[in-house]
Amino acid sequence: MTCESHDYVYVGAFNVFIEEELLKVIEAWRCRVCGTVLAGERQMGPISSTEGMRGPASQESGERWMVVARQGRGSLPPDAILIKASPGSRVRVESIELHDSSLVVKDDLSVVREVDGEPPTTVRVYELLSVLKGYIDLSVWPPKVFTLQAKQQRQL
Ligand SMILES: [Zn+2]
Repeated sequence: MTCESHDYVYVGAFNVFIEEELLKVIEAWRCRVCGTVLAGERQMGPISSTEGMRGPASQESGERWMVVARQGRGSLPPDAILIKASPGSRVRVESIELHDSSLVVKDDLSVVREVDGEPPTTVRVYELLSVLKGYIDLSVWPPKVFTLQAKQQRQL
């Protein structure tokens, strides 16, 4: 089902913290007619021109909004990045462990390393809609993730 002009409503935010410092906010809007989802991320601090809403994720191709959280070390700080991915697609991320930078999205939206099919150890991937109204704390690894959504809707 497609709309001539979507009727978006705000779904919620996913706050990315490092301890008590709010690093960024990832937000989503969903069309109340067809379910198409828009998402965007806002950095805290000076506004840059690359931010704002992105999307929409194409439902026809099974695309989903996903959040890639990575462990930090040395010159690579911890971060959580918004991406669009569909089952079967490959995802490239910056990570402190070389084998974790090339990932494959499975049909159930879980993510494994391309090299050996094992779950990545320094990267975690969440479907954005399952963690909205929540937060992640990247100061520990694995990161602490919390959402106010009812348990049965969660897919952590
Ligand atoms: Zn729509």
